[in-house]
Amino acid sequence: MNELADLYQEVILDHNRKPRNFKKLESATHAANGHNPLCGDRITVTLDVQDGVIKDIGFQGAGCAISTASASLMTEALKERPIADALALLDAFRDLVTGGLPGHDLGKLEVFSGVSEYPARVKCATLCWHTVAAALGEHRQDVVTTE
Ligand code: ZN
Repeated sequence: MNELADLYQEVILDHNRKPRNFKKLESATHAANGHNPLCGDRITVTLDVQDGVIKDIGFQGAGCAISTASASLMTEALKERPIADALALLDAFRDLVTGGLPGHDLGKLEVFSGVSEYPARVKCATLCWHTVAAALGEHRQDVVTTE
């Protein structure tokens, strides 16, 4: 494993050990639950959206290191972002973890680029993003990832 890969792994491990924004927002305007049956990851995302901007976001749940770290890094990336921007980031993140070229600067989220080599892990990394998309969508429903 090269140095860069080690560094990336450290970020993921750190966010798994100390998840950021691990909370339920009492002032949530949007919320959704997600479940990845392949791995057993479960997540609840709550958002406080004001004037089309995500003012605050929190998540709770239990899952593998990838799913927890992904949700933690996602909450940091989405705070203070307009919804349209957040959805563009979701598309770019999905491209990144499925081995495509993201059409958006992903910053810290690029630590998950290695996930594309492990197809079974892609849903662990994207579960939180799909859950946010469901929370922000018009049809609020629980997300269950499928093959
Ligand atoms: Zn998982």
